[in-house]
Amino acid sequence: MSVLDLARPELRAIRPYVPGQWEPGLVRLNANESPWRAPGDTTERGLNVYPPPRPTMLTAKLAAHYGVDQRQILVTRGSSEAIDVLIRGFCAAGRDSILITPPTFDMYRLYATIQNAAITRVPLRADQDFALDADKVLANVSATTKIVFICSPNNPTGQSMARADVERICRETEGRALVVIDEAYHEFAEAEDFGALRARHEHVVLLRTLSKFVSLAGVRCGLLIAAPEVIEFAQNVLPPYTFPTPSIEHVLQALSTDSLRVSEERVALLKRERGRLSAALRAVPDVLKVYPSDANFVMVKTRDGAGFRETARRAGILVRTFDDPLLTDCVRITVGRPADNDLLLRALSGAERGVDA
Ligand code: PMP
Repeated sequence: MSVLDLARPELRAIRPYVPGQWEPGLVRLNANESPWRAPGDTTERGLNVYPPPRPTMLTAKLAAHYGVDQRQILVTRGSSEAIDVLIRGFCAAGRDSILITPPTFDMYRLYATIQNAAITRVPLRADQDFALDADKVLANVSATTKIVFICSPNNPTGQSMARADVERICRETEGRALVVIDEAYHEFAEAEDFGALRARHEHVVLLRTLSKFVSLAGVRCGLLIAAPEVIEFAQNVLPPYTFPTPSIEHVLQALSTDSLRVSEERVALLKRERGRLSAALRAVPDVLKVYPSDANFVMVKTRDGAGFRETARRAGILVRTFDDPLLTDCVRITVGRPADNDLLLRALSGAERGVDA
């Protein structure tokens, strides 16, 4: 059996769009573009011409960065788009479903709902720092389940999932469903990534993003790492010309040795700050629990989430609270620069003394 037997059959046979030819140095009268650059266009390629149908040079660079073959990567507009491509490619509207483990990243739900795919929810174990409930996940994979989403480190709870649980879920879903491991925050984690696990199972795919660790959330670059046949299939779902020229050029710049060194230093600083912030939050009486984090944020359980959020807001800081009943009075705090974190901690200690009451 091929993993593509899980995919929507009508998409496996789709006829791809044939792009116009591109040959550097030749006059392009074949693509209905403008012959002039727009005023202020400083890109290398020129914004008057379409980007390449697929960003092949960028794909090659990203493959080298992530240590995989080019045929195992699909570059998308943020990893959000990779989630969309997978759901549309594998879930027939009105028939198939995905399995998620809330509280988790809300976009899995959103894209599934847009595709009219049903959603099976197997909550993380709140009593065990939001660990996976592998038994229940496996018991809930049904004949209509096409994708199991595992987010590790998980947003918004912060912790990495236990490797043994993830490995077991992957082992026992072989031939039944795709497993998507969303590693958006991996660069902030201590443990190894799930690359080796993916390499052992063709139904396991990874999501990565350039939004966090290289400071490029505005560029919208993410990627799907999967077996070549999955990538080839995913290209049937993602039309050509979606990845913009400025994004290609910004990501190539971010992958240069000098830029990567800066990013690595910043990641190291954020990890140190995460430790400092977590320790200081533990000393705040209104904070009942600081969850362990492998990401660039920390989740805390407070006595009064809305009150905590307002205290931060009065100090000029936004933090995130949730409607989810699994996260009542929980607050997610992104780790900022040392001065930002100090400002928050000062505001919280001021609140303890009633200074800002
Ligand atoms: N996965 C997770 C777990 C996230 O938290 C996010 C963004 N917050 C994404 C994916 C999407 O990131 P992007 O589309 O910017 O790559």
